[in-house]
Amino acid sequence: MKSFGSLGWLGLLLVLLWPLAGAAEPIRSDHAQKTLEIYRSIIEVDTSKTKNNTQKVARYLADELIAAGLPADDVKLINKDKFGALIARYRGDGSSGKKPILLLAHMDVVEALDKDWQRPPFKLTQDDRYFYARGTIDNKFGVAQLAATFIRLKKEGFVPNRDLILAFSGDEESGMSTTRLLAFNTPELAQAEFALNSDAGGGSLDQLGKPVAYNIQAAEKTYATWQITTRNPGGHSSRPRDDNAIYELADIIKAIQAHKFPVMWSEMTLSYFQKVGEQLGGELGDTMVRFAFDPEDEQAAERLRTESAYVGTTRTTCVVTMLSAGHAENALPQSATATVNCRLFPGVKVADIQAQLQQIVENAGAEFELLGDPTESPISELRSDVVSAVSKAVHRRYPELQLIAYMSSGGTDGMHFRKAGIPTWGVGGIFMNPKEVYAHGLNERVPIKAFYDALDHWSIILKALAGSQ
Ligand SMILES: [Zn+2]
Repeated sequence: MKSFGSLGWLGLLLVLLWPLAGAAEPIRSDHAQKTLEIYRSIIEVDTSKTKNNTQKVARYLADELIAAGLPADDVKLINKDKFGALIARYRGDGSSGKKPILLLAHMDVVEALDKDWQRPPFKLTQDDRYFYARGTIDNKFGVAQLAATFIRLKKEGFVPNRDLILAFSGDEESGMSTTRLLAFNTPELAQAEFALNSDAGGGSLDQLGKPVAYNIQAAEKTYATWQITTRNPGGHSSRPRDDNAIYELADIIKAIQAHKFPVMWSEMTLSYFQKVGEQLGGELGDTMVRFAFDPEDEQAAERLRTESAYVGTTRTTCVVTMLSAGHAENALPQSATATVNCRLFPGVKVADIQAQLQQIVENAGAEFELLGDPTESPISELRSDVVSAVSKAVHRRYPELQLIAYMSSGGTDGMHFRKAGIPTWGVGGIFMNPKEVYAHGLNERVPIKAFYDALDHWSIILKALAGSQ
């Protein structure tokens, strides 16, 4: 048993009373209360795809921004395919002569079924550690923090030296039609110098809550899926023949399995491996540092290829994910189809990967069907003004913490803006342990501490990038 030693009885009493003292709700600033009010209000409207509620959330946010002093003419509601989007311009005095900054978030969420959740998904509830509800992380955290930051800056009388523009989409989790509209067909947004996305990036904490790094999303791989089909006249299974749709497809699958796409890199991915390698140490960390020093080091590249968490940062990948074939147990198959999902390194063309796959499989009769409409987007190489602004916000919370740019596997609004020629970085304000992230899943939750700690994140960044110091 542990002795209390010199702490004595008074100390013991304090230790026993401590939990009670800790339970008291701290007094929150106006900004904290406003952010929470907005967070709660938008979370309690179900904005999943089938509910048609994003227009309602956009309207609510527009009213809040106008009430805080944004001219009604500068706040626009856009409707597209029953989804709502919002554009809100915070005018600057133009003294810097610089182009506007876009601030991205999405108002929709992934569907959530009441009966599957332990708590109601569309009600903001909490215990002593977490806020729970669909959207607490993805991405109503970003929507609330950004909108409340505009309100706060307006109340403080802040006049930026360039325009700041909120661009909130309404169907990021499904068809991204509002995102495309904002990125490609909205002239006032096309003039932006760059965009900062609240829906990606953020800090990682270890199990003890200690910060590991702050991650800036600077690129997304292109997501592309093909269905490859082989066909055959078929026949009775008692009369097998040499040509067979399933056997042919099996050869194709083995050829794809054996193929290694060429190693690729950019300034950003090499700096990523340098930093992560140094942090990780050991044999794997050393390999990363070697790769960063010389990406043509084949041994290092081959070693990273065997790590599923890192292979994607070294090349394009394709993997067979689904199969369907045959129609009866006593019939020769008339067709066989494999689904192949690829993640393309930025700069690689979808058409080139299809040509490569066709060459690899060595089967002129195989049919290739590309599913959907993949978005190819470039890397946004880091800029020093953006990095220094984000560092300022990060270091206010965690001095000295390292910032690392990374490439994600694809799927945020950012890729459309990058494709439209607007460099975009994911620089969200959440710090949490990656193991705690339940975005898209059941019982989505965010640490309460992460919510309150992020309150100054955006105003520090915006004042650094658009303040007249
Ligand atoms: Zn999201």
